[in-house]
Amino acid sequence: MAGQHGQEAQRAGTPHAQARIDLSAVRANVSRLCEAAGSAEVMAVVKADGYGHGMAAVARAALAGGATWLGVAGMREALALRAAGVPGRLLAWLLTPGDDWNAAVASGVELSAGATWAVRAAVRAAQAVDRPALLHLEAETGLGRGGATADDWRALLETAARAEAAGYVRVVGVWSHLARADEPGHPSCDEQLAAFRSAAGLARRAGLTPDVLHLSNSAATLTLPEAHFDLVRPGLAVYGLSPVPDLAAPSELGLRPAMTLTARLASVKRVPAGQGVSYGHRYRTARETTLGLVPLGYADGVPRHASQAGPVLVAGRRHTVAGTVCMDQFVLDLGDAPAAPGDEVVLFGPGDRGEPGAADWARAAQSISHEIVARIGARVPRTYTGGSASGEL
Ligand SMILES: *Cc1c(COP(=O)(O)O)cnc(C)c1O
Repeated sequence: MAGQHGQEAQRAGTPHAQARIDLSAVRANVSRLCEAAGSAEVMAVVKADGYGHGMAAVARAALAGGATWLGVAGMREALALRAAGVPGRLLAWLLTPGDDWNAAVASGVELSAGATWAVRAAVRAAQAVDRPALLHLEAETGLGRGGATADDWRALLETAARAEAAGYVRVVGVWSHLARADEPGHPSCDEQLAAFRSAAGLARRAGLTPDVLHLSNSAATLTLPEAHFDLVRPGLAVYGLSPVPDLAAPSELGLRPAMTLTARLASVKRVPAGQGVSYGHRYRTARETTLGLVPLGYADGVPRHASQAGPVLVAGRRHTVAGTVCMDQFVLDLGDAPAAPGDEVVLFGPGDRGEPGAADWARAAQSISHEIVARIGARVPRTYTGGSASGEL
């Protein structure tokens, strides 16, 4: 009976909420991306704690799946991967002058430079640790984010070429990032491709000989082969989520979502019709019903914007968040379905049991799947299946 579910959960000592990460899905997704990339190599993007999945564990699984590079945003992330002993070529692309450039260069972390100050910082670090810095020059090709504009590109190339001639740096890559790869066929993709080819041509004319040109995120890896060049940088697809959710579900892209987020009901009670639910009483019961309390809230990454909208699965049936999502909890109106404390609530997963996907939460919160998984908080324990978190398969 319903009551027994709760007792069983207690006996098994299962956490009141958890994110289960299927590392075999990560490996399979990466090998699918390798296939899509053709002759290009694959850099698995594991920034933001591996999009919330656990950075070192997914990095190892991605390497086992065929990725030869890892990509992160900040230097601290790169140094954490090195400290964890994760092998592979490793690029960090979001750097500031105060970062620990010496440590990064000393540990062979490859670094992006989108301005001359970054080349100078790399040169100083190379001098300090007596090892050349490996640089990827970032061109602004239309995203309007990082990278040197066409006006500044020549000065960046000249500075980098001088530093290379002096032996302090080696320019191993030229790269940029697409603004609208998730809208396949958008004319801005072609414009950015042309700007990127031109930036790469100028680099060669400046005497630089990068090993790799790279431009593609997950969406371009899966939908825009012209943008693959020598190396692709998928993030979201590594975790089995669709970068084009309105066009294709993960399974249609050969991907399998790796994270399943579940919780156990913390309280279950009957309430009369007209009961206001949660802060602001945005939900009111239409008739006598059962309310179930889910111990996950916006501090755990459940978007407050998904109040009255986020979908969950309880005992094989879909329900919607009732009222406002709180910091630690939200409420479900379970109707007359039998329910007990300890019963499992599935927020999202691969869909095997009819549970919602991260993309459904993204839709409910007017966001994207990247944000849904990346914001699952540190309070939610990660557990691993399909290989151990330390990388042994
Ligand atoms: C985050 C990021 C990626 C990965 O993007 P996805 O859409 O998750 O595939 C690739 N390159 C850069 C520079 C990024 O910041």
